[in-house]
Amino acid sequence: MGLKSNGSCGQCGAIGGGAQHILRCKNSDRLWSCVERVFGKMGAGAVAHDKIFGLPAHARLKTIFCTALLAVYQGFLRAVNSGQTDSDLVKIFKQKLFERIYISFLVAKSENRLTQFNKFWGDGVGLYKIVDTRIEIRL
Ligand SMILES: [Zn+2]
Repeated sequence: MGLKSNGSCGQCGAIGGGAQHILRCKNSDRLWSCVERVFGKMGAGAVAHDKIFGLPAHARLKTIFCTALLAVYQGFLRAVNSGQTDSDLVKIFKQKLFERIYISFLVAKSENRLTQFNKFWGDGVGLYKIVDTRIEIRL
């Protein structure tokens, strides 16, 4: 186990950052840049300085934001449990967002609710395209 009792960050080794440091850690900068790009594709404003408390207003953006938080949390757990600090947070984020969109699409398609699906995801602007009965997701 890679548990640390001295309060240092499991990702970068910084000491005394507290719980909020996990989100502001320099190791997650690439992830937040990726989240900004995804938000940019969807026509939303920047979120860089709102990482912790300034959640975007729309449910779609909150979903993307929370997916990024889950990626950070997964990387944190890996560091704590195994001492491995090489988690690719961008890869984890993209995988989780892909799964979220794809599963939502499959459920909406099976329940004949693709209109609501498209409304929630903003018609897939920059994220996906529905062709016939398939979905092409590009993150
Ligand atoms: Zn750190």
